[in-house]
Amino acid sequence: MAITMKKLIAGNWKMNGSLAANEALLKGLATGMPAQPRCAVAVCVPAPYLGQFRALANALPGLSAVDLGAQDVSSQVAGAFTGEVSASMLKDFGCRYVIVGHSERRQYHAETDAVVAQKAQQALAAGITPIVCVGETLAQREAGQTQAVVKRQLAAVIHANGHCISEIVVAYEPVWAIGTGKTATPDEAQAVHAVLRAQLKAATDQAARVRILYGGSMNAANAAWLLGQPDIDGGLIGGASLKAQDFLTIIAAASA
Ligand code: PEP
Repeated sequence: MAITMKKLIAGNWKMNGSLAANEALLKGLATGMPAQPRCAVAVCVPAPYLGQFRALANALPGLSAVDLGAQDVSSQVAGAFTGEVSASMLKDFGCRYVIVGHSERRQYHAETDAVVAQKAQQALAAGITPIVCVGETLAQREAGQTQAVVKRQLAAVIHANGHCISEIVVAYEPVWAIGTGKTATPDEAQAVHAVLRAQLKAATDQAARVRILYGGSMNAANAAWLLGQPDIDGGLIGGASLKAQDFLTIIAAASA
């Protein structure tokens, strides 16, 4: 990184939680959060719980440094799109981030690169930072296609959002590492992050301030190792973000 910026640790709760479980998790997080964390922290919660987070954040001073994120956003502005949640709705709840293009959305909801780019566009237009996920499957990695795949996925977002591309966060999430306990080695992850950084540099002179997160079985034990790489600017954390102590340990690793 050419400039100093705080790392970002973002939890992706996925479709987990309940009112009771979320309250216990967020109270645990609030209790252990440093008063002035040296990294940025966010939790991306299921849409029905955005209001619960907001209410708890008002009541728990320990959550004041934790930003709210969502896990998806509609590619459309408003109207007859049953079940969709618009960027302006997320903004109403004070969302600072929204994940777009998570591999589970690409795989189970057939989201194309073009749709992901539109979602990023909607988020940016509403003043929300999209966390744009890119990553290859195991078959693509074994076929030597990793760079081509992640570059194609990011290119679609750059193409649609070139004028404000420095406002996005990128998350490199190798699909084979998500929820599997298999993690890219720091060298493997750094190599892909460097490719993504170079692609951003070709699109903006602000590329050094675009955070590129790593995601895929990052946990309390391996976080420091991964976060020590020069182009790894934080983590998108699934399973380990559901345990307050593990998430706090990752936050500490990002603050070192
Ligand atoms: C994710 O879902 O974005 C993720 C990285 O999950 P996990 O940490 O569980 O692999």
